Amino acid sequence: MTEKDKHKIYADIIIDISHEALDKVFQYRVPFSLQEAIRPGVKVRIPFGKGNQEREGYVIHLSEKSNYPEEKMKDILSLSKNAVPMESQMIEMAAFLKYQYGSSMYQALKTVMPVKERIRPKMTMQITLLTDEYETENLRKIWERRHFTARLRFLEALCHAPDHSLSREEMNAVCSFSRKDLEKMEEQKIILLQEKMNYRNPFSNLKKKEEKLPLNEEQRLAAEEFCKDFGQGIRKNYLLYGVTGSGKTEVYLALIEEVLKQGMQAIVLIPEISLTYQTVRRFYERFGEQIAVLHSRMSKGERSDSYLRIEAGEANIVIGARSALFAPTKKLGLIIIDEEHDGAYKSDSSPKYHARETAEYRAKLTGASLVLGSATPSMESFLRAQKGEYHLWTLKKRGGQALLPEVTVVDLKEEFKEGNRSIFSRELQEKIRDRLAKKEQIMLFLNRRGFAGFVSCRSCGTVMKCPHCDISLTYHRNGSLRCHYCGFESRFDRQCPVCKSAHVAAFGLGTEKVEAALAMEFPEARVLRMDMDTTKKKNAHEEILRTFSRGEADILLGTQMIVKGHDYANVTLVGIIAADLSLHAQDFRSGEKTFQLLCQAAGRAGRGQKQGDVIIQTYSPDHYAIVTAAKQSYEEFYEEEMAFRKMLHYPPYDHILVILVQSGDENQSALAIQRIQKMIVQSQEGVEHPVQIMNPGQASLSKLKDIYRQVIYLKHRDGEVLLDLKERLQPVLETHALFAGINVQFDYDPIHNY
Ligand code: ADP
Ligand code: ZN
Ligand code: ZN
Repeated sequence: MTEKDKHKIYADIIIDISHEALDKVFQYRVPFSLQEAIRPGVKVRIPFGKGNQEREGYVIHLSEKSNYPEEKMKDILSLSKNAVPMESQMIEMAAFLKYQYGSSMYQALKTVMPVKERIRPKMTMQITLLTDEYETENLRKIWERRHFTARLRFLEALCHAPDHSLSREEMNAVCSFSRKDLEKMEEQKIILLQEKMNYRNPFSNLKKKEEKLPLNEEQRLAAEEFCKDFGQGIRKNYLLYGVTGSGKTEVYLALIEEVLKQGMQAIVLIPEISLTYQTVRRFYERFGEQIAVLHSRMSKGERSDSYLRIEAGEANIVIGARSALFAPTKKLGLIIIDEEHDGAYKSDSSPKYHARETAEYRAKLTGASLVLGSATPSMESFLRAQKGEYHLWTLKKRGGQALLPEVTVVDLKEEFKEGNRSIFSRELQEKIRDRLAKKEQIMLFLNRRGFAGFVSCRSCGTVMKCPHCDISLTYHRNGSLRCHYCGFESRFDRQCPVCKSAHVAAFGLGTEKVEAALAMEFPEARVLRMDMDTTKKKNAHEEILRTFSRGEADILLGTQMIVKGHDYANVTLVGIIAADLSLHAQDFRSGEKTFQLLCQAAGRAGRGQKQGDVIIQTYSPDHYAIVTAAKQSYEEFYEEEMAFRKMLHYPPYDHILVILVQSGDENQSALAIQRIQKMIVQSQEGVEHPVQIMNPGQASLSKLKDIYRQVIYLKHRDGEVLLDLKERLQPVLETHALFAGINVQFDYDPIHNY
């Protein structure tokens, strides 16, 4: 090898960044003159194809090894002058995702690149009233005399519409004039017709409101500090820690106002948009048409319209779930992550990125600020705030006049001892009765869905399992057994398939069972149930929540989806049916998750003028997550939880890398994990602080949809050590024949157990 060869660098380049072509990668040599300037994201000019036509492409990866015969390899010609910063930025983001979370570059690129498929915006007709007050009055009189009732309704609607203007669709709700009819009225100078681009806007029924709440002292401090920083060009990471109902959303609105004033754009992430309709509504009420929404339940057309408006700078505020983080905002000034502790911010497919860390990376890359908000910040974020890496704002008081609720813990073991066989403790029963009598509303929360946990035989103990997944089937009241992982369904025939005994019964507790118990014990109550089964249809969430907010039901019963972000002034009682259900999961984060859920649930009570009550029913009244949740003391929980994490070397102190191996062949997956383990052990020989290898073997969900799953957990104080090891393993796992047909996934600092 000559001296020159040693320093050769090769660049993987993609020519076309449409989704379909992201995997078409071409390798080029990087000439010495360009080596300094080249990194992932950079746009270059290259000779392409037989005729060496000059084309442009993006560098996505650099390496020192070529996988192409040297004599056929071409050189990059030059850096592209008219670089498109947005695409470059996204490719840099992809390179970050690939490195930090361990996916292929292709998977990473697909995650960050917006779907290029453009669907033409629909056209719509806008109708505007042209007459002044005097003319309108005359018109009304004439039409009244002639009994033109449809025209009168039309006129009425126009008079009341903002800017005296209606879309054709809005008009259709009142009367049904044809195009001809309308054109005639236009000739008479009564109305003006305009063709407009009609962006598909799923929240188009929301209207802008003019008045603003004056911020309270705590809110003002945060907002003023941000505005001062932002005005001076200072970009930071902030943590807004505010108890439930302390008015974090009002603060976000104030920050965004400042960012818009400076001519920049903002991205607001919320955990799951369909569950936080009310939050979206408040943004609309303040900023109206400047908002673009992005979420997974949107149609392709709606999504494409949102992208167009963001790119064009027509929409300056993007609201959406996790993936809205990759919105093509050209002048990004601020990223807000509401409910930053929420598990929905971690992707469950490769790259398994966390929106919080990824947002921090994008903010740095583009010179934006980052604001994280929560009533129960993640251990990661609060630790960083304590270290001064995040600037901390604290909101201790509720926003308006509302007081924090009174919380009572009920020991279910005691209830049982004293002969209460109901799902509801005596105290909860009493309070439910009281609220029903007062016509106040109630939310009941159960961290489970379905009718019962599982079905088993009382003679031989056989548990009915899904034939495709290593998971017990769940009984539903229509008489079916269902797998919640793969959707497998079979009939429940009350006979044990093993011993043929007829004593097969359902155990545990689900929303359907609670619903049935409510119907028995409180027949007069109007109950709404909200869980995965009642919200399968698009917009089902909003419909249930709207029904409840209109006061058309007394009790809203549901799983964790009811605890997120709803603000009902008339809810004065929140009952948590069994707080322990989420506590005993084999997961080092289960205490944190339980605490967060309980606080969020409790925070739903008493948001209006009346103080609320919260009843937490539990079999573990002494567990610190429950004790501290009852006190609504995040600080106490944080102390206890961090002591536990520190002692057992869990994140955020140490870091974890999971390697998940999947195969349709059970033996193959077991063999693969053994080989990986061996490779890791060898790599750590003689290392002073080696990575710690934990629980290699079957995943706790060992089979899913007929695929066998094996895992290794790796732990180390320094996350870079784990990432470095992953970088060395990945090429072997991707290319070595021993791992052909095996799917390997990485998960850095996982939030769920495997
Ligand atoms: P969080 O997001 O912290 O849970 P919200 O922003 O939803 O809190 O505010 C809770 C309630 O308090 C809302 O009804 C909101 O309108 C009200 N609120 C917030 N800030 C103020 C304020 N400065 N003055 C009066 N009411 C406020
Ligand atoms: Zn299954
Ligand atoms: Zn049996």
